[in-house]
Amino acid sequence: MTQQVPVTIPFVDLTLQHQPIQAQLEQAIQTVIQRGDFVLGQALAEFEAAFAQASGVEYGVGVASGTDAIALGLQACGIGAGDEVILPANTFIATLIGVRDTGATPVLVDCDPDTALIDLSAVPKAITTRTKAIIPVHLYGQMVSPTQLLELANTYNLLIFEDAAQAHLAQREGYHAGSVGIAAAFSFYPSKNLGAFGDGGMLITKDAGLATKVRSLRNYGSPRKYFHPDEGKNSRLDTLQAAVLNVKLPHLAGWNQSRNLIAQQYDALLAPLKTQGIFPLQNHSSTGHIYHIYVIRISADCPVTRQVIQEELAEQGIQTGIHYPIGCHLQPAYEDLSYKVGDFPHTELLCQEILSLPMYPGLSEVQINQVVDSLKNLLKTRSIALISG
Ligand SMILES: *Cc1c(COP(=O)(O)O)cnc(C)c1O
Repeated sequence: MTQQVPVTIPFVDLTLQHQPIQAQLEQAIQTVIQRGDFVLGQALAEFEAAFAQASGVEYGVGVASGTDAIALGLQACGIGAGDEVILPANTFIATLIGVRDTGATPVLVDCDPDTALIDLSAVPKAITTRTKAIIPVHLYGQMVSPTQLLELANTYNLLIFEDAAQAHLAQREGYHAGSVGIAAAFSFYPSKNLGAFGDGGMLITKDAGLATKVRSLRNYGSPRKYFHPDEGKNSRLDTLQAAVLNVKLPHLAGWNQSRNLIAQQYDALLAPLKTQGIFPLQNHSSTGHIYHIYVIRISADCPVTRQVIQEELAEQGIQTGIHYPIGCHLQPAYEDLSYKVGDFPHTELLCQEILSLPMYPGLSEVQINQVVDSLKNLLKTRSIALISG
């Protein structure tokens, strides 16, 4: 029987985030209980306005999840069956689910192996007469270049719909995540940089008409009670969740900043491992990268495999992750899209090489050093073992 190793450095630790604001969180929940406005209540309206404003746009519409924010947002843009939507193969599956929910056809493209973000130079080849929109995914907390996106969208007359589920308040080239395109989707899944106590999401936009449309779609397709001009669904962000998010929002910029500083420390400490084939993904956004996830690559040049590295770190109580081990194009559920192994070589390469290290506000310098030292030590002992056979 294998012994249970106690976790010394978890992958994420939410208690550190909640402890200092626990009293405020409880008070906010109490207030909702007293008011009793559990659905489409006051705290939701407040949070929608505050989050949209923080992201540099006018309107926010709270929905049940990030996935629904994508689906309802695209639907409100008039996208549906017969249309094509371009998105990266290297993303969390929810981006694809959101597109499929509308009836539109997802068209995948490869990523840039240095950043893991969508390769915009691969987009033109994927465009057809049916293409309506592109979904840049601001993956791991780094934005896809807004200037390059806008240029591409102008040239080919595409709508930009941002998947900002990992990029709350991220910035690049003077733009906030969610302010580049016609609209953007955010998720408040508990472990996202801004997380609720359950599921939640939001559509944000500068377009008043689009916001009105999503407000109707999330609420049974009714702009007013018992009148249903749109085919909608029930997908609202709970008032209780919004109350929690209202307490957390003022802390978000500080939390993001601390993630960015942790990433800088990892970058510096890991630099010597480049010669052994281990290096982080590139950051082109400087402090605008909010590091939802900190990802390193363990390339073919590394004398130790990723699997061994991950297992040995786990044995020392250090949790790591792989985001994501299988490209969307190779997921069994989407066989009907007819993609095959080899279609997106950069995505497939990253699936083999990436490893996500512990990352959360409050991760201490001692712990960061511990993670990197463990990595260095196991490389040393394993490499020696390999040489001496
Ligand atoms: C989390 C996430 C989503 C989906 O959000 P949910 O709230 O879990 O539905 C969509 N896209 C990306 C890139 C995500 O990381």
